[in-house]
Amino acid sequence: VERTLSILKPDATGRNLTGAINTLIEKAGLRIVAQKRVVWTKAQAQKFYAEHKGRPFFDELCSFMTSGPIVVQVLQGKDAIATYRKLMGATNPDEAKRGTIRKRFAESKGRNSVHGSDSVASATREIALNFKSAEIV
Ligand code: ATP
Ligand code: MG
Repeated sequence: VERTLSILKPDATGRNLTGAINTLIEKAGLRIVAQKRVVWTKAQAQKFYAEHKGRPFFDELCSFMTSGPIVVQVLQGKDAIATYRKLMGATNPDEAKRGTIRKRFAESKGRNSVHGSDSVASATREIALNFKSAEIV
């Protein structure tokens, strides 16, 4: 069993897609073991996305991620990291496969509806940044 950090981004919450995306997550066999709806400060976004600092899209990414409510979640299941990355689809919705969250819902490369951790190390770091262990049940 593995855990991954998921974020439903502001474009998804803005279009009232929390339930629709959560249904796809649960249908894929993943269990939502922690979940909260929050608005990040700029500092929280910059810290979360520190690995992208210096990239051309960094400022746009941090502005977008603080532009409205996000739903931060911990997903648990067998191979949760890879299972969720597959369900999300490619970063660019034009390249995402049919049936993926981004193919269905993403508006662009930036407004792409969801985030999922890309490795065990990232998942550990990203979960710790967003939840206390007692909040994960
Ligand atoms: P995520 O990290 O959200 O799971 P990812 O791993 O597929 O997506 P990364 O390359 O890690 O994509 O980029 C992180 C996020 O930065 C993307 O999800 C997207 O929101 C944003 N991003 C990446 N590339 C671009 C771009 N060229 N223009 C605008 N935003 C971008
Ligand atoms: Mg990434």
